[in-house]
Amino acid sequence: MAQSTAAPAPITKVAVAPLPLKSIAPWAVFFGVLMLVLLYFVGAEQGATSVLSGEGVHEWVHDARHLLGFPCH
Ligand SMILES: [Zn+2]
Repeated sequence: MAQSTAAPAPITKVAVAPLPLKSIAPWAVFFGVLMLVLLYFVGAEQGATSVLSGEGVHEWVHDARHLLGFPCH
């Protein structure tokens, strides 16, 4: 088994441009609201707090509800 005697390749550093907070703030707010809506539908869309009538949403998120430990039945 021959060992390589060649010098290791030089490490090139790549500069990463900083991401300004102003450019990601609208996306952060959007995804935050989206996550809150999702959390509502998984955790509280049932019975007296139900926005949509019927059991469709509840059945859709039923496993997620149990997985996250929300009370169900
Ligand atoms: Zn259940």
